Amino acid sequence: MRVNITLACTECSERNYSTVKNKRNNPERLEMKKYCSREKKMTLHRETK
Ligand SMILES: [Zn+2]
Repeated sequence: MRVNITLACTECSERNYSTVKNKRNNPERLEMKKYCSREKKMTLHRETK
C-alpha cells in the first residue's frame, strides 16, 4: 500500500521533495508545510504525480 509521491510547492510549483505515503492511511492528496529551496521560506507542499 506504500506509493512513491512527489511534493510540489503550491506557490511556485517547484518539486522539492519525494517521499512515500501509505495509501490506506492517506487516500487524499497529501499536503504539508515544507521549506521551499527556491523561495527560501516555508510553504504548503502538495502531492503531485
Ligand atoms: Zn516555492
